[in-house]
Amino acid sequence: MTAPLIDPFARTIDYLRVSVTDRCDFRCTYCMSEHMTFLPKKDLLTLEELDRLCSAFVRMGVRKLRITGGEPLVRRGIMTFFDGMSRHLGAGLDELTLTTNGSQLDRFARPLADAGVRRINVSLDTLDAAKFKEITRWGSLDKVRRGIAAAQEAGLRVKINTVALKGFNEAELFEIVDWCRAGDMDLTFIEVMPMGDMGDGTDGTLRLDQYWPLRDLRARLAERFTLTELAHRTGGPARYVRLEETGQQIGFITPLTHNFCESCNRVRLTCTGELYMCLGQEDMADLRAPMRASGDETPLEDAIRAAIARKPRGHDFDYSRQRAGGQMSRHMSHTGG
Ligand code: SAM
Ligand code: SF4
Repeated sequence: MTAPLIDPFARTIDYLRVSVTDRCDFRCTYCMSEHMTFLPKKDLLTLEELDRLCSAFVRMGVRKLRITGGEPLVRRGIMTFFDGMSRHLGAGLDELTLTTNGSQLDRFARPLADAGVRRINVSLDTLDAAKFKEITRWGSLDKVRRGIAAAQEAGLRVKINTVALKGFNEAELFEIVDWCRAGDMDLTFIEVMPMGDMGDGTDGTLRLDQYWPLRDLRARLAERFTLTELAHRTGGPARYVRLEETGQQIGFITPLTHNFCESCNRVRLTCTGELYMCLGQEDMADLRAPMRASGDETPLEDAIRAAIARKPRGHDFDYSRQRAGGQMSRHMSHTGG
């Protein structure tokens, strides 16, 4: 172990989110255009490089790794990476986890559990098969549900992530809550962020009028349930409530609010080796060049420390201050959400 990563605001950085590919087998309308162009394969970090980078972060005090994408389970050979990372569990790393669209889980649930993964996040926005096809363009709800079942059979704890979309899944709010309770799954709602190719809806992309503030969603929940605010925080932009009538815990992720920046413990690594210190800001550090320049780990560790020293106090998701169109130019599938 080397000295832990501490940023200029005395926050310990112990959580790394890693995008292992920008590719995906879905085309969710709020995330990508149907004709998304992906990075040339040669620009991606190899699995060995991903291992080397993540291992450097673990040596430097990262205790939680979340693997994401794009769709992490479409990256060829991805189990080699998970199997490799499992050597750090209990030896610096407390948790190895992933966020997935669930499409490949029926195949991968068991090997993931064998690699030491204990909890996974599965993104699912609707329980209606036709609407699922509409929002993901290419996905099959049936397949995802089989994947979730396989995950639970393999002993993985499942959390469902649902993007709140006005006029789309608004009417399903209670159905989704009930479904998660019946299936013993945790549930978190995500407020939609204007990213990438968000358009006017004419080509099926997310429309601005689909923005459904979680404040409103929460008020709807409160019409049926007694909500108790929970104190625990994860260092991220999530808040939790308990539904007293069912005992369920529901999370709310509002990426656009600045409320939790002071406890931010995370950084994000893209599939090309760029380290983003804050989801809401464009500043990043290239780690691929220092890694490729030398087989020695010291220049890489120095580059990581220099990047953490630039982590900003908070983010800058102010619609009015962004470029015309009010959206981030970066794709969630590139930085991993
Ligand atoms: N493909 C995997 C999945 O869908 O879970 C992992 C990557 S995906 C980019 C990670 C999360 O970001 C998903 O829960 C997805 O719903 C969310 N996401 C994508 N675009 C978003 C947007 N514009 N606003 C809010 N959440 C978004
Ligand atoms: Fe793929 Fe996930 Fe983006 Fe949907 S949200 S297109 S599943 S990366």
